[in-house]
Amino acid sequence: MRLKFAGCLRVIVYVVLFWWLFPNFTALRVSHWPWELTLRYGGGFLMVLAARFAGGGRMGLQKELLGVWADALSIVRTAGVVYDQPWRRSFEQIVIRIRLMRHYATYGPFGIVTFGMLYNPLVVGADLWSFFAGRRDDFQPPLTSAELLTVLVHEVVLCMLVFSIGLGQMAFTNSVVHRYFSHNCFRTSRLWNFVLGSFVCTSGMTPITWAAVHRRHHRFCDQEGDPHSPYQKGFLYAAMYWLADRENFEIRSAFVTDWLATAPELLFLELYGDRAGGLLNKGMLNVLFAGLSPIWLSASPVGSHPFALAYTLGRMVGVNLVYAFNGIGHGMQAPEPRSDIKDGSSPCRAIRLSWYWWIVGSEIYHDEHHDCPAYAVYGPWYQDCSYCIYAAMAKCGLVWAVKTPWSHHIA
Ligand SMILES: [Zn+2]
Ligand SMILES: [Zn+2]
Repeated sequence: MRLKFAGCLRVIVYVVLFWWLFPNFTALRVSHWPWELTLRYGGGFLMVLAARFAGGGRMGLQKELLGVWADALSIVRTAGVVYDQPWRRSFEQIVIRIRLMRHYATYGPFGIVTFGMLYNPLVVGADLWSFFAGRRDDFQPPLTSAELLTVLVHEVVLCMLVFSIGLGQMAFTNSVVHRYFSHNCFRTSRLWNFVLGSFVCTSGMTPITWAAVHRRHHRFCDQEGDPHSPYQKGFLYAAMYWLADRENFEIRSAFVTDWLATAPELLFLELYGDRAGGLLNKGMLNVLFAGLSPIWLSASPVGSHPFALAYTLGRMVGVNLVYAFNGIGHGMQAPEPRSDIKDGSSPCRAIRLSWYWWIVGSEIYHDEHHDCPAYAVYGPWYQDCSYCIYAAMAKCGLVWAVKTPWSHHIA
């Protein structure tokens, strides 16, 4: 049998990328105690199996084991696909496989979901608290009580502002990945499309993965197949643990064929989005240091600067709020008959959350959104901060054909 040079090269690229980008390998390379990871994920795996057994008996257990086994085998099977397919199709397959295996970092109750969403915000919040609690000892010669109070008020107000910027950044990136990347609520250039995609990565999300999941949510709203329905699986699952369920690890490419055809460069963000997002956040933090940091704080190391803690905490709280929306934006009860729908019923339980506006400044009309997902604006435009930013981008010529109830851009 004669080997194809290009096919072998594609397999080599696949193996190299897989080795460098599969985080558990990376973690094992850098960890001083790889056993910690082994125990954490091993213990988590046993708990998942126990939960599957409790929920579905032997069939549930078997399904989970076979699913994990199939995912592991697919690492090798993908090499064969990559060998035989053209470069573009191969790259898609490489990215989908690496993303799937990377999602195993969130697998089970002791993965990134619990640590990232519940534990880490507490640690960062405690660090910020201890920074202010020990502030009296940081000045030499010591400050008088009045001087210390002035410094503390100044710093706390600025940290609250930086916290709000972190939270607002998370809310806006979520709006972009939702309204634009999932629902195409406006059109833009290919360059600005990639810039927006990179900006989305500052919140730990990636456009293709997010769009594929969210379009599935609309397709199967509150029915079997909805990735995060509180009506189907409860609040905690919808708000957090759907991310830890291997059923949701693979990018379902059938839901994002448009992006794969028109902007395949977004696939790079699936591989390197964490690094791109990290760099952009670092840049943003430096802008905040330069613009807002009081002179007496300018010598503080970046890691212990209260702005770094407040900004990170803002984004972490934002992550929780955005994902919590999956659990609270849909009702828990059985669907009610609707007079505006032909057969009198809709399985979708999307609801309106007025109070949510006071936290993120948009997204409250989730019921209207499910009725007409393509719009860039939900409810009155002046209540929708995300839409106002899109309108500003349209004024600058960065985006166009913004879909609103008063425009004629709905296809
Ligand atoms: Zn929804
Ligand atoms: Zn949507």
